[in-house]
Amino acid sequence: MRFNALLNLQKKLVEIAFETREKARVSYSGYKVGAAVMTENKEIFSGFNLENITYIVPHAEEQAIRLAKEAGHNKIISLVVYTNSQIPPFPCGHCRQIIADSSLLYDMNPNIIAGNDKDVFSIEKISTILPRYNNFSKKKILVQVRTDKNRYTSAFTERQALELSLKKCYMSDNEKILSVLYFSDSKKPLFPSGFNRQLLAEIEKEQNEKIEVIAKTASGLEERMFVSELLPFSFGVESLNNT
Ligand SMILES: [Zn+2]
Repeated sequence: MRFNALLNLQKKLVEIAFETREKARVSYSGYKVGAAVMTENKEIFSGFNLENITYIVPHAEEQAIRLAKEAGHNKIISLVVYTNSQIPPFPCGHCRQIIADSSLLYDMNPNIIAGNDKDVFSIEKISTILPRYNNFSKKKILVQVRTDKNRYTSAFTERQALELSLKKCYMSDNEKILSVLYFSDSKKPLFPSGFNRQLLAEIEKEQNEKIEVIAKTASGLEERMFVSELLPFSFGVESLNNT
């Protein structure tokens, strides 16, 4: 889709994201991102990425959403991410989780628009770019990383359980991750959060072999999905290289 095909309010939002992008501080990645959100009453808030050496970096989308919330606006109807990459990237897994959590909490379903300098635009809904979403909050689950040689298990909050299992796995040499088991006592099988999908998607690209997520419940329900299905239109290091 071209810029001219967007609705007038969407065009305005893109223009603001484009202008805001110039403020980005990208000392490490060189990858400037501008974002803008439109609230229910048509107010606009924008954000840009602000990198530092800790790599705990506020992303542009996250910043725009936070500014809107700070001003008392929880409901967002549109969100634009604007970059200079070849393929306009949708938000990373971490930001998708933030958008999905807000969508559930505030009963919203924003249009998510990705655009680039080559005049390429795509619009999707959060349910498409983060299918089988769960709100984990402080829920504890068991995560088992299964490689071609071993199994590494941790039980903690969702975000940390995967991190701990991966750390145990990386203490060994040259093991290929084949699958990850998510075991919980929920009613339905739970798939990873957006943040952890991002992590798994990057590992999958590095090892050049698909990773399957097996989601199981204590009552015996089981579902399987590949990481690439759980994070479609994913954003990674390859997006930084083709700017
Ligand atoms: Zn992000």
